[in-house]
Amino acid sequence: MDKILVVEDEPALVDTLEYALSRQGYSVVIARDGLSALDMARVQKPDLILLDVMLPGLDGFEICRVLRQEMNVPILILTARDDEVDKIVGLEVGADDYLTKPFSMRELLARVKAHLRRVRLIREEMGVEDEVMVPAVPSGGRRLVFDSLVIDPDRREVSLNDDVMHLKPKEYELLLFLAQNRRIVLGRDLILERVWGWDYSGGSRTVDVHIRWLREKIESDPADPKRIVTVRGIGYRFEG
Ligand code: CA
Repeated sequence: MDKILVVEDEPALVDTLEYALSRQGYSVVIARDGLSALDMARVQKPDLILLDVMLPGLDGFEICRVLRQEMNVPILILTARDDEVDKIVGLEVGADDYLTKPFSMRELLARVKAHLRRVRLIREEMGVEDEVMVPAVPSGGRRLVFDSLVIDPDRREVSLNDDVMHLKPKEYELLLFLAQNRRIVLGRDLILERVWGWDYSGGSRTVDVHIRWLREKIESDPADPKRIVTVRGIGYRFEG
């Protein structure tokens, strides 16, 4: 049974959500303020989080930012504010989706179902159990060194044989994501979602094209790649 954490301080909406989600067969846990939301997420390990923005204590964006560093659970932000800025902030802090209040329960349930299904497919594709997390692309972090290839997330810089390379932003993000998940088989759809974002409308060919460009830059023989290998029928694996 999938467990959903509802983070919401408006009692009527909490009741409505709890009722609707339970009827669909989900197990529902509730947090009514920012700090208990963090605790509940860590202790309960929900399969999905519905997150209000305006909350006592930490706001929803802050919660999202913190949780995103710790777990790969789908996070749907619920907010009464519907300007574009909020949407962008929501996605920047790592939310997977965004619903503006008032939303229809049918719409909410459809999105919940879709995200849970997506996560299940990713897990199946990767052949991993529930507790494995695939981190989102973080903005900084420690240097990653693969002999002559060095990735420095703090400076957003990649060097090969001590020469700083010129990578396009997506090439860099793709390389970083692959490198951070070294030796893990990553499906095209997962890569697309993590590097290009859930709302990117292009197809997974985009991934192949960028992989080709990256190989031309970082492989000694792009026709016989050793660092980024193709996993037939699935996607790619970064070897180092
Ligand atoms: Ca609220």
